[in-house]
Amino acid sequence: MAEQGISNDNIHYLTIDQVRQGQGQDILGKVGLIVIIAGMTVPGKYLRGTPINLGEISDIARVARDTPVVLGGPIRLGYGSQGGIKVAGPDLPGITLAREDIEAFVYDMLTSPGGLKDPDSVAHRMRSTSEIAKWGARGAFIIRQHPDYPYVMCELETYRGCARQSHCSFCTEAFYGDADFREIEEVVAEVEALYSNGARYFRIGRQPDLFSYMAKDTGGDIPVPRPKALEQLYKGIRNAAPDLRVLHMDNANPATIATYPEESEEIARIIVKYHTPGDVAAMGMESADPGVVSANCLKAMPEDVLEAVRLINRVGGARGDNGMPELLPGLNFIHGLKGESEDTFHHNFQFLKGLLDSNLMVRRINIRQVMSFPGTPMWQEDNTYRYHKQFIKFKEKVRKEIDLPMLERLVPVGTVLRDVMCEVSDGITFSRQLASYPLLVGIPAALPLGRFIDVTVTGHGYRSITGIPYPLDINHAVPRLIGELPGVGKKRARNILKARPYRDKDDLLGKLENMENILPYIIFTVENE
Ligand code: SF4
Repeated sequence: MAEQGISNDNIHYLTIDQVRQGQGQDILGKVGLIVIIAGMTVPGKYLRGTPINLGEISDIARVARDTPVVLGGPIRLGYGSQGGIKVAGPDLPGITLAREDIEAFVYDMLTSPGGLKDPDSVAHRMRSTSEIAKWGARGAFIIRQHPDYPYVMCELETYRGCARQSHCSFCTEAFYGDADFREIEEVVAEVEALYSNGARYFRIGRQPDLFSYMAKDTGGDIPVPRPKALEQLYKGIRNAAPDLRVLHMDNANPATIATYPEESEEIARIIVKYHTPGDVAAMGMESADPGVVSANCLKAMPEDVLEAVRLINRVGGARGDNGMPELLPGLNFIHGLKGESEDTFHHNFQFLKGLLDSNLMVRRINIRQVMSFPGTPMWQEDNTYRYHKQFIKFKEKVRKEIDLPMLERLVPVGTVLRDVMCEVSDGITFSRQLASYPLLVGIPAALPLGRFIDVTVTGHGYRSITGIPYPLDINHAVPRLIGELPGVGKKRARNILKARPYRDKDDLLGKLENMENILPYIIFTVENE
């Protein structure tokens, strides 16, 4: 940025995890402005990375002393660390809260005379789509400063705002007004800039419904989707980033899919044509209780969601070249909404059971308690949650009776997942494919971190799977990994270990009986004598 002598060289980027590890203290102490992006509108837990909390924000402001600190992002709507609560504040002394878009606020601060010295003189405003086009491309260089670079998922915003005439009781998207689409060329130009800075992992996110990108408002509650716009967008991204490794989507409105099945099927086929496998259309179902759907003006009745799930399964259910199904639905449920009763848990469970019994696949089921924000109809509601015990029980039941068999269907034992990144290890190495909604794989051995390996699926948990490196070097693998081979228990593992090394498959089959089933998953590395 040429404003006030700022160039790319003196813009620094730190994650809160880096700050927690004591990195960047020298930078914080000498810069002219600190910008903190914080907060979440959807509570969640992550393998790596815990969102910044209010104490940490205050600590940064203390280190900064006289340097102005601007805080923004989702936190402007209020701070909450978990679901089931009303958000609060944040009122932090010595920190300026950007009450609308932080990028616009910081830009105005840096371009208006005296803005840096007196942040209170700067107006709060939303940025326009043309501004984001300009800033997105110019700011693409920052990806190089991310500690995980080049393995960074870049979120591409196509629009924000909700085109529905009425809005769901808990949702903050209505604050942005009607859908405000970014031009296809502008999104593609941002991809081009990111790609030239080494980005290879993309997700088309932020928008409440990708199927409604550039949709035509005809006065109804749900606008008419425009498959041609999606084709141009995806094609443009692929042309701008020919060697991208991941291209995933995020949200889809099941009501759009159920209301316009033909257009939606065309869009789903376009997505599958241009994307990378392991993709998820995350659908905010929120509740399968018709009473709760009506009381909260939710977008879709259970039968609409079922239609949407069916359509996505039909188009995206085939396995892709990275081992995951091409495109599957994800479902989000929210508890604590208006009109909820004990019956709601029954409705929700029966809906999920119906999907399982109909041989359908759902990539992931998120179950949360509502987080209430000021300005939404939910904010007026009583904050006491009467069904906490039932909620916990319901979650456990879904994990055990739905998630587990669903995962077994999704990635059966013996499936080979490609390009799984080893991220964290404490005896078990936790790893994931880079994806919009990655599946967690636990490998029962300490493996070098920061590397991609292929993995054979060997077992299933409620929300994660167990796997072993593919192919497994039978002559050198540690006993725990040998014992994980499909069909090999402790006893057979002991026999395999006792008779090592094996020259080749004939040697193995000659020494031990019934070993044919492990041959697809192993290799024989023999040291030169
Ligand atoms: S949750 Fe409801 S209000 Fe919010 S963006 Fe989706 S359809 Fe619109």
